[in-house]
Amino acid sequence: MCQTFIPPTILESLARNGVESAVSSIQQSTISRRGRTPRIEMPQTAIPRHEHKTSEIIVYDCEGTWKQRVTEVLSTTGMREASPISPSISTGGPAAIGGPSQAQISAKNAMEHVRFARDFLEQYMDRKGIDGQGGTIHVNVNFGDRYNNAFWDGDELTMGTGDNRVFTDFSKSLDVISHEMAHGLVQFISPLEYVGESGALNEHFADVFGSAVQAYKRMQEGLEHDWVIGNEIMGPDLYGETLRSMESPGTAYNHRLLGHDPQPAHYADRYTGTEDRGGVHINSGIMNKAFTLVAKRVGFRAAGLIWFAGLQRLWPTACFDDAKVMIVESAREKEKANRLVRDEQLTNLTQVVRSAFAEVGV
Ligand SMILES: [Zn+2]
Repeated sequence: MCQTFIPPTILESLARNGVESAVSSIQQSTISRRGRTPRIEMPQTAIPRHEHKTSEIIVYDCEGTWKQRVTEVLSTTGMREASPISPSISTGGPAAIGGPSQAQISAKNAMEHVRFARDFLEQYMDRKGIDGQGGTIHVNVNFGDRYNNAFWDGDELTMGTGDNRVFTDFSKSLDVISHEMAHGLVQFISPLEYVGESGALNEHFADVFGSAVQAYKRMQEGLEHDWVIGNEIMGPDLYGETLRSMESPGTAYNHRLLGHDPQPAHYADRYTGTEDRGGVHINSGIMNKAFTLVAKRVGFRAAGLIWFAGLQRLWPTACFDDAKVMIVESAREKEKANRLVRDEQLTNLTQVVRSAFAEVGV
């Protein structure tokens, strides 16, 4: 099952409003697995454990086709840490005169972002790669023709270049890449079923990880966190809009092409229909807001670690209330262990978390 970055409801709205490239993007979301390049699949049991190994990253150029892993263009294997991004990319489509091709730029950006997210996982969450065992991370760029999406399909990341009208190249966004990597993380840690509340939790954890990685990067750059998801890939026609607001769900967009942001900010207003697999990208806003409230009080690092610990206690059909119980439990444990309370703002951690959930009605 493909976990796409742009929700189907948004693509459908774009298609209804005459954005032609949205139509092929919708169709591709359902058939991408068929177009993949055949390769030998390693059975799960045959993957060796690499307790101390860092995940390698391989970036492939799909050359504008609807197939994955067409040409390998960048790899961390053998790269020296000091110069992670090779300036001389061997292949990746014809180079434009006097500069790199779009595919080369996409590959370079994707490598940089995946590396950043991978290192964040290792340094801040003590986890080796997406699978936790240092398995290679496969990344496809330049997928399809004006493909307006990016996805995690169960074992790799794939990014389109967008139509440059509504969406731009998905590879250039750390948000997008870390969000999609997080779907992989959830799959390996607690595979929350991608439907209804468990699906909205899956989306929520992906947004939390995406924004935590983004926050860390922005902090390094001396910027405040912006609490929005997807602003980096908005094309000229959607300038000023964004896909989700973690801080104020329901306010991310209001646009003739996109329609109105349907995310509720309170459990009483949750979506109960059947679209978007029961509102997985819609109801995630409720949980996102709870995370925002906690992170603002205790900082991204502490909030992220509590959420990550909570995720590890969840099961495939968990609902919002289950997640609340497990995240509060994780907060209590951290507070008790006195690991995080050296910081003054963390002394009432459990209370902060519980009141955040109360504020959004969970
Ligand atoms: Zn997602």
